[in-house]
Amino acid sequence: MRTVAILGSTGSIGTQTIDVVRRSPDRFVVVGLGAYRAVEDLVAQANLLRPAMVAVGDPALAGEVASRVPSGTAVLAGAEGLSQVAASAEVVVNAVVGFAGLPVTVAALRAGRRLALANKQSLIAGAPVVQAVRRASGGTIVPVDSEHCALHQCLRSATDGEVARLVLTASGGPFRGCRADELRSVGVGDALAHPTWQMGPQNTIDSSTLMNKGLEVIEAHELFGVEYDRIEVVVHPQSVVHSMVEMCDGSTIAQLSMPDMRLPIGYALGYPDRLPVPFGAIDWSALSRLDFELPDRSVFRCLALAEAAGRAGGSAPAWLNAANEVAVEAFLGERIAWGAIADVVAGTLERYEAAVPTTVEEVVDADSRARRLARQIVTEQERAA
Ligand code: MG
Repeated sequence: MRTVAILGSTGSIGTQTIDVVRRSPDRFVVVGLGAYRAVEDLVAQANLLRPAMVAVGDPALAGEVASRVPSGTAVLAGAEGLSQVAASAEVVVNAVVGFAGLPVTVAALRAGRRLALANKQSLIAGAPVVQAVRRASGGTIVPVDSEHCALHQCLRSATDGEVARLVLTASGGPFRGCRADELRSVGVGDALAHPTWQMGPQNTIDSSTLMNKGLEVIEAHELFGVEYDRIEVVVHPQSVVHSMVEMCDGSTIAQLSMPDMRLPIGYALGYPDRLPVPFGAIDWSALSRLDFELPDRSVFRCLALAEAAGRAGGSAPAWLNAANEVAVEAFLGERIAWGAIADVVAGTLERYEAAVPTTVEEVVDADSRARRLARQIVTEQERAA
């Protein structure tokens, strides 16, 4: 029986993780849950799963949670509480949204745990620090991102020296094939209408700009140690081929499955074993074609910005991510246009001061500085509009 802790348990990945665990009760047991402030859902999950501990990120809500969970469940609060839960299980699922997931990633790795990482932002923004913690502690990361789960599976058939290229697939999002002038007036609802994946709002907007794919290029570089010149992005609208590895002899290994995040979640929980429960096998009579095309970086500028930040290294990915989170929030609040998301990110990165963070505090500081600049640029954009 493998113990599991889920941070960000009330979100999209968190609830799907609970579904996976409940379908394999002989393999996994949830011993810890954590959420920032979704009290109703967190209390319901605690009563269903009866974990040893739950953490609520907002300390003001700890009393209410404590009065409503089973008597055997300890209630912790704040970033400290979330970090304690993150150190408490054999497998720690980090499904916190965005940069706020950094303390969970660091706490899980520092405790030498297996980190099932759905929070790519913590690895991307904090890479120099996160990688040092991972090396020192012997903690491991198994990605909960469909593309990186695919790469992880494909790489099982290769030795290091045999890998020529990683090929990340992208669905292309709702605006695939559109020209820049057609995208000027798109609204929040258009950007949230993803054709193949059900995800939270930040991820869905990031998919519409291809920032998500840019972040995933950096994530692949950090997870697998492959240099940027050997990581490619290919648009594949059916979202059935989740990524590919090209070998030195020209052979390409691909991973195919239906788009369902419960497969990467179950893979990360069960690795090196596969779960005997399939989440939607491919119906070859219904799947008539698989299309591939190259992304247009002049329309989807966020992809190029992310690739450039990844190559710059140091704190540049932290700046990129911070500016993007500010810009997406402003777009969701209908303060800026969809096309201005890339403007905010580009404007922030223009003022990047090169540095390599060596502590979590330095990563947080880089994130804060970039957020301040990005907010200024959002305000300027609003005035100009
Ligand atoms: Mg992905």
